[in-house]
Amino acid sequence: MIDLHAHSTRSDGRLTPGALVARAAEAGVTTFALTDHDTIDGLDEARTAANTHDITFIDGVEVSVTWQRRTLHVVGLAFDRGNAALTEGLATLQQVRRDRAKRIAAKIEKLGVADAWSRAQALAAAGQITRPHFARLLIEDGVCRNNNQAFKKHLRPGRDAHVTVEWASLDDAVAWIQGAGGIAVLAHPFGYGFSAAWRRRALAAFAQAGGDALEICTGTTDRQQEITAARDAAQHGLAGSAGSDFHAPEQFWLGLGRLRALPGGLPAVWHDPRFPGADAAN
Ligand code: AMP
Ligand code: MN
Ligand code: MN
Ligand code: MN
Repeated sequence: MIDLHAHSTRSDGRLTPGALVARAAEAGVTTFALTDHDTIDGLDEARTAANTHDITFIDGVEVSVTWQRRTLHVVGLAFDRGNAALTEGLATLQQVRRDRAKRIAAKIEKLGVADAWSRAQALAAAGQITRPHFARLLIEDGVCRNNNQAFKKHLRPGRDAHVTVEWASLDDAVAWIQGAGGIAVLAHPFGYGFSAAWRRRALAAFAQAGGDALEICTGTTDRQQEITAARDAAQHGLAGSAGSDFHAPEQFWLGLGRLRALPGGLPAVWHDPRFPGADAAN
């Protein structure tokens, strides 16, 4: 069982890298990638845990990208994590995140959240500060009822606590990943709230930038979306990937490794020669 997209406490996931890998093993995952937002800090801990659980561990990251004033997520897999251009690129994004977080904190303080900046830092601990952390503060202080409402009313683009920033360019994200010997995957094509036309445009731009694969099967796709995505990927000569985008055990409807097989005919990223154990993976 393969799962190439998941988050730990190093970004907006709720389990430590070690606990996440243990849960993946329990769920029957045999090939697993940790893909935290804009950081590779959790990879060492996850790899160590994977060794004790006999899981094939794949280094991963989910890079935030700004394209046409919209945000895209590019997952990098199986790169050299000592690569300087990649680590410097991620360091730049981490600075963008920090500056953005201070500005979001100031905005939610105006909505009635006390000490938002110090509490967000405490919540994120050693990890990246993300919008879900601010959603938690909005809920804790009774400004919002739940995560969905926090995003809908305050945190999504156009709302009062949203802060627009410039993430990496699509070209840079692909170049950082591939320059480090890795595979660049456009994440969750149905996860951006795009129209079909914008979804196709984004995919064309990603292919144009030299991207390798499209995420076809995720924890929230239905079969029709997977078939549509596979057709789109094939049109651009992209391979297919699969990952749950697991964040927390509380998302009981979305389990690690619980993914359908790629629609027939589409080459899988795990058969890419850059992928560790490409011959053995199935
Ligand atoms: P950030 O990268 O800090 O902007 O945070 C993005 C993360 O917020 C995503 O990876 C999701 O985990 C989460 N997210 C984004 N939009 C929503 C939404 N509408 N409802 C719930 N969670 C969301
Ligand atoms: Mn996330
Ligand atoms: Mn994402
Ligand atoms: Mn993700």
